Amino acid sequence: MDHFLYRDGALYAEDVAVAEIAAAVGTPFYVYSTATLTRHFRLFDEGLAPLPHLVCYAMKANSNQAILKTLAALGAGMDVVSGGEYQRAKAAGVPGERIVFSGVGKTKDEMRMALEGGIRQFNVESEPELRALSEVAVSMGAVAPVTVRVNPDVDAKTHAKIATGKKENKFGIPIARAREVYAEIAALPGVHAVGLDVHIGSQLTDLQPFEDAYILVAELTRQLRADGHSIDRLDLGGGLGIPYERSNSAPPLPTDYCEMVKRVLGDLDVEIEIEPGRLIVGNAGLLVSAVTYVKSGEGRDFLILDSAMNDLIRPAMYDAWHDIVPVIEPAAGAAMHPFDVVGPVCESGDTFARQRPMPPVKAGDLVAFRSAGAYGAVMASEYNTRPLIPEVLVHGDHFAVIRKRPTFDEMIERDTIPEWL
Ligand SMILES: *Cc1c(COP(=O)(O)O)cnc(C)c1O
Repeated sequence: MDHFLYRDGALYAEDVAVAEIAAAVGTPFYVYSTATLTRHFRLFDEGLAPLPHLVCYAMKANSNQAILKTLAALGAGMDVVSGGEYQRAKAAGVPGERIVFSGVGKTKDEMRMALEGGIRQFNVESEPELRALSEVAVSMGAVAPVTVRVNPDVDAKTHAKIATGKKENKFGIPIARAREVYAEIAALPGVHAVGLDVHIGSQLTDLQPFEDAYILVAELTRQLRADGHSIDRLDLGGGLGIPYERSNSAPPLPTDYCEMVKRVLGDLDVEIEIEPGRLIVGNAGLLVSAVTYVKSGEGRDFLILDSAMNDLIRPAMYDAWHDIVPVIEPAAGAAMHPFDVVGPVCESGDTFARQRPMPPVKAGDLVAFRSAGAYGAVMASEYNTRPLIPEVLVHGDHFAVIRKRPTFDEMIERDTIPEWL
């Protein structure tokens, strides 16, 4: 459920008309709902109770400072995957002991930064990383808290680019080798084990792959404890999917996911950490765009928008579906007509949807892409020297710009001219 509903024939974000925001900031723009963010965070936070737990929002899904502050105020921790994200989390006021550091390619500089600023744990993904981290920690007179990300070799049944839990993926350590690696942790001076980590992919629409992985994690936890290691935390990753196509999909609810976690892992006496990104912020955001032209082609009609693949790359990159709705509510029973919905960028890949049935629309009308809050703004670029589009946060009946659109001058001034020119 989200808080983008039609009211008196017009689309609202909570209690603010989307058209009012468009008039104030210009199109295209992203708009996010505080109430939806809050609701989604609480579904996980309350769903995991009474187990000790920490919901670490995977901030790569949307790392705007205002989003981070909204979630941190509710008690969220953060899952970061780079030094830049670590700095963003700290800048939003998140204490180090609520930040977990994931990713296959952490550099020594990033390790040092996190050890200096405070970190809950590093989720380590390889033995070379483990040795590098131990070295860095020893050089600082510190001991780094670690979990090992195990790769359980389960099929997440999701898009190949976002499946991470098969043995051919670059992520984690094969689960069969985990005991050796924990033995190495025990022998290294700069790291100590605090738990175990797994993350099998993103946009999963079935609970079974999660359950298969968590059963293996439970078994491994018992083995590692028998080997003498302290496994006090289980980081279960993120990845729960959202219904991008509302008429045609119903992925499992966070409450069902949490019930499964409690059933499979509830008797292990561990603190549960989860790292949801998409589920928290995906349906909490819209991309709002204006129709520039309606163009009739050879047997194909095009809606040419003022937003493009540089603003929202998911359709081009993952063949992703986004529901596209007009901001003025169509009349009940309005005739639908198929359009290719495209942007102005000079690539055929700049296509948001093909032959999408749309109600009557004309140049100047506003349309909204639903479920655009995750992996939208954060993956945007300035390709074609198109400015990064503004982000707006709604809270009840007011809204604020939380990242402004740069001017062309600001964009151009980032380039520097060598002295010989
Ligand atoms: C991307 C990622 C997540 C978040 O995935 P979602 O599908 O957005 O929930 C969590 N943990 C790790 C390690 C990730 O790489």
